[in-house]
Amino acid sequence: MPSQRMHAREQVGPWHSEAVCRRDEAGLFFAPSKEPTAARLSREEAAKRVCARCPVMVECQEHALVQPEPYGVWGGLTAAERRVVQARRRRREAEIQRTTRIAAAG
Ligand code: SF4
Repeated sequence: MPSQRMHAREQVGPWHSEAVCRRDEAGLFFAPSKEPTAARLSREEAAKRVCARCPVMVECQEHALVQPEPYGVWGGLTAAERRVVQARRRRREAEIQRTTRIAAAG
């Protein structure tokens, strides 16, 4: 069964050819509808174990953060974990801009 990731990854860049999850036959990376919480947590941990041995984890994670990819496990991060990283990046960027403005006005 082709996964959402197979379809999405076709458009993401040259790194996808090395992705360990190209054939996600176990369906680890995207949630089926109405997945119970315990099953989701278990599936996501299994997906993260696959990501941990993937040679393109860094590229994949950055793609999913920048795009951003709203669903699924990418680069060892769940969608919720990516939202935390994105929020942290936005705060850091805002702080840099604020500091730069103060220095320029100084
Ligand atoms: S890091 Fe994970 S989600 Fe990304 S390509 Fe590798 S196995 Fe797939």
